[in-house]
Amino acid sequence: ATPAATMVGTTIGAQNGVLFKGGDVLERAKDVDTVVFDKTGTLTEGEMELTDVVVFDGPEGARADGGERTDGSRSSSDHRSDGGQLAERERLSEDDVLRLAATAESGSEHPLARAIVDGAEERGIEIGSAESFENVPGHGVRATVDVSGEAGGTSDSSDGGGEVLVGNRKLLRENGVDPDPAAETMERLENEGKTAMLIAYEGDLVGVVADADTVKESAKSAVSQLQARGVDVMMLTGDNERTARAVAEAVGINPENVRAEVLPEDKSDAVEVIQDDGRQAMMVGDGVNDAPALAVAYVGTAIGSGTDVAIEAADVTLMRDDPVDVVKAIRISDATLQKIK
Ligand code: ADP
Ligand code: MG
Repeated sequence: ATPAATMVGTTIGAQNGVLFKGGDVLERAKDVDTVVFDKTGTLTEGEMELTDVVVFDGPEGARADGGERTDGSRSSSDHRSDGGQLAERERLSEDDVLRLAATAESGSEHPLARAIVDGAEERGIEIGSAESFENVPGHGVRATVDVSGEAGGTSDSSDGGGEVLVGNRKLLRENGVDPDPAAETMERLENEGKTAMLIAYEGDLVGVVADADTVKESAKSAVSQLQARGVDVMMLTGDNERTARAVAEAVGINPENVRAEVLPEDKSDAVEVIQDDGRQAMMVGDGVNDAPALAVAYVGTAIGSGTDVAIEAADVTLMRDDPVDVVKAIRISDATLQKIK
């Protein structure tokens, strides 16, 4: 393209909230044949809300040994009776479980964590203090929390601190806690498109909390407009398979095109694998996690409200945070280059 055409295209882009970082990307965008969307914050609003708190009975009840239930959960929202397996230790209440989770998450900036903390505060739950907080990327958090015996007297130790894990199945397994007793509860919540997180306290599974996000209004239309142009649409997320598929279904992405449970450090590899097929992929993302993937993609597109790291790594920024503007970016590139041909 001539410098003049590049300037026109860049200007039209800017007027539409699509910022192209230079003429090269303006030329490349029209040749994108695959768009890979990050899920959270890109296809969804990224504003999580705490929706469910489910209590597990601890090691005794959760084992479901001989009981009629294979799932030791009880929750005030579904009014299911427990298995009658009263654990030796006093049972935690929903508020206890939420207090443990919120206290452990109070040091995390992750949207899932913020929703748990906000949800606890809205319910008037006093959040304790977390010590030795550790963020485990793509898994969850581990923290030692001081609940000063408020958590139903579950602590055997009188030193006050107990280790809390909040995160996915992998996090629990890697810390020697079996997540399987919560399998049914997790699956039920995930099939609703929610992100369900397990909570362990001092090595025991004690509960599940779930956060829900809202799919962006225009996400479905963006996907169908891209597909109508012959562009393959994919989704890449660290979230679990079931939740990812539920969201994919809601926006019209083929389940075969969903890459879920991708660790932050593996997102760029996933894009490279997609491109190894000779595809020219546009990666669209908002998070720090997405930055390496944005950098390796044929075109990296950042959501304007996303993190600075993502915007820096990207070639295009969508100022309106609207997935439909992906279509605009491709169209502007197309139109600009056709005019000057
Ligand atoms: P995404 O790609 O959707 O932004 P991440 O890679 O940040 O997801 O996280 C992947 C998964 O790890 C989450 O779906 C969640 O199960 C778990 N996880 C990550 N951070 C946290 C956290 N602070 N608390 C609980 N779970 C977490
Ligand atoms: Mg994201």
